[in-house]
Amino acid sequence: MASHLPIVQFEDKIMKTVEDNAVVVIIGETGSGKSTQLSQMLHRRGYTKSGIVAVTQPRRVAAVSVARRVAQELGVTLGEEVGYAIRFEDRTSDLTRIKYLTDGVLLRESLSNPELNQYSVIILDEAHERSLNTDILLGLVKRLVKVRASKLKVLITSATLDGEKVSEFFSDCPVLNVPGKLYPVEIMYSEESPKSYIESSLRTAMANVANIYIYYIGNDSDVFFESFLLNTSETPHIPNIHVREPEGDVLIFMTGQDDIEKLVSKLEDRVQGLEEGSCMDAIILPLHGSLPPELQVRVFSPPPPNCRRFIVATNIAETSLTVDGVVYVIDSGYVKQRQYNPSTGMYSLDIVQISKVQANQRAGRAGRTRPGKCYRLYSSEAYEEEFLDVTVPEIQRSSLAGSVLYLKSLDLPDIDILKFDFLDPPSFESLEDALKQLHLIDAIDDTGLITRVGQTMAELPLEPSLSRTLMEANENGCLSQALTVAAMLSAETTLLAAQSGKSNEKKRKHPPPDLPDGSGWGDHVQLLQIFEQWDQNDFDIGWCKDNGLQVRGMMFVKDVRRQLSQLMQKIAKGSLNVRTNERYKERQRGYKNLRKALCVGYANKLAERMVQHNGYRTIGFKPQLVQVHPSSTLKTDEDGMFPNYIVYHELIATSRPFMRNVCAVEMAWVSPILKKLEKLDIDKLSGGSGRSIREESEKKVTSLPKKEEAVAGVPDDR
Ligand code: ADP
Repeated sequence: MASHLPIVQFEDKIMKTVEDNAVVVIIGETGSGKSTQLSQMLHRRGYTKSGIVAVTQPRRVAAVSVARRVAQELGVTLGEEVGYAIRFEDRTSDLTRIKYLTDGVLLRESLSNPELNQYSVIILDEAHERSLNTDILLGLVKRLVKVRASKLKVLITSATLDGEKVSEFFSDCPVLNVPGKLYPVEIMYSEESPKSYIESSLRTAMANVANIYIYYIGNDSDVFFESFLLNTSETPHIPNIHVREPEGDVLIFMTGQDDIEKLVSKLEDRVQGLEEGSCMDAIILPLHGSLPPELQVRVFSPPPPNCRRFIVATNIAETSLTVDGVVYVIDSGYVKQRQYNPSTGMYSLDIVQISKVQANQRAGRAGRTRPGKCYRLYSSEAYEEEFLDVTVPEIQRSSLAGSVLYLKSLDLPDIDILKFDFLDPPSFESLEDALKQLHLIDAIDDTGLITRVGQTMAELPLEPSLSRTLMEANENGCLSQALTVAAMLSAETTLLAAQSGKSNEKKRKHPPPDLPDGSGWGDHVQLLQIFEQWDQNDFDIGWCKDNGLQVRGMMFVKDVRRQLSQLMQKIAKGSLNVRTNERYKERQRGYKNLRKALCVGYANKLAERMVQHNGYRTIGFKPQLVQVHPSSTLKTDEDGMFPNYIVYHELIATSRPFMRNVCAVEMAWVSPILKKLEKLDIDKLSGGSGRSIREESEKKVTSLPKKEEAVAGVPDDR
């Protein structure tokens, strides 16, 4: 079924190298078959007899999609011999021999089984994405191959990674290069950056129909006509792929769901207006991480005869998912990324330029089946002078609180978080920030040692603030409510996506009038009330639809809540005081216990009201003036005043710094946090060795692109 894939021709060589070495790095073009074929080769060669073959993926959608494909190729039922596990969704069974899982799930599994004995082979796939979790796994498996001696094989695969660097990291392990069958790709640059890359992509893919029509009915000066009718002096020559170019699909890289939806709808309008028979048919397909799985797989079905597909995708199509049949690529040159600033605790969601490596990956998508063309909507000067050479690893642009807690909870004598063997180390500033945050929420003591609370928190598949909230809620008798809030927050993006048309931000401004409003306490309480109302309506699907809530999202919440509740019961083993069945009792008491639990959990995300500035000031970071996001349900009291203290789920800089998902808390609960902050000694927290490690860390970090130059963040499709 897949014998045409380049990697298959190298099976003997790859398997021989794997046999002789504990760690092997495999570099091969995207689409050469690394994700789908290596696991099957290992299965054929008997590696699944002594354990499961695990293949990690940085993205959830890739784990699901590739597992589905491999099950299909092997002719087995998904979830049996071939399965997948992503957060809150486990489709594996006792029969499973090949398991696709996100890198985060594998990290979590190693908590209960530090040697990962169930696996005979671990493939760290897509290592070039340099996701935070894969980077941590690199450090962990390095240790594991020593501990498990000859019983574990590790394969690290990548499309672009600097193989030598990884090989050095693994004591000069062998690097195999799988030559890809890549056809030449002609690269076309724009003369200048477009004002709107949606419009520019549209024009490149399919220029205005009216122009084409007029041109065809009798003008031989298309250059004149097009530039005249489009009323633009930008580019007299418009590629207009659909009309001018022979068959072959078009892959267009946009930055996010909103832009994709806009461009898809514009392309659809143009297709509708096409003169019948003037050119081949066209199908427009969006591709992004929030798309329901049944819509995602549409890109894998070939188009009907005489039909061209336009796939409008995020950077998910850059290396994670390979869409066959692409001959033309339109590259906006941008990607949407989240960047964390450890000194302000703020995330920014930026649309940033891609790196040269990414640009070349995108172009490469056009040359998989025959010579292709890549239309870059930026100039060659911009590419040469402005684009970074490589993408900045996620570890250098994320909050590390969760990862540091994880590493501390492993409690391995040879693992010291501040000296952890990272391929590229994070900055000392972000490690310090993580330690401070963890101390504020009681996960580590004032000498940096993990506490019992922290140990339990690490076992929950939630970010530290939510885990801490659950534990506190269990103590003060509102666990049931906190479980609901945690589940609702875990699914928030899908939850709101059903409210038609506009962007999520706008959707939240106008919730359907019948939905509860948080009783003046803010968004966490509102999320709880929505779920409770759904519960009172017997979890009726029609109720979700009537209230503009996405059914899939709400079903997911229900399932996540059930899983979290089971996990809490399991973790408790008698030591926790789990009380999950007291649903609505709390409501009359102003949700006080829940808000108190949130205050303890979000002690690292606290803000104080600044009356004269009509906003809030963050506490615990370099003080920032921030606003409650306009989409929040938080209301002023009868005197028109906002609460004095609030906790927030996320601080994000868009047009201004905004706090998203806020909850009102009380002064009395805030005082102990302020006291803790006063006493905080960062040198002590980092085990007294702060300064020397800071110097060491700074030395290593300077070898990478400087932070100011490297405005980058987290891929948006996890
Ligand atoms: P790599 O990991 O080297 O990028 P893959 O193993 O992901 O390559 O892809 C190999 C081939 O399998 C490609 O032609 C791709 O289109 C196809 N493929 C991967 N996943 C699916 C799927 N879910 N459905 C159909 N085809 C798929």
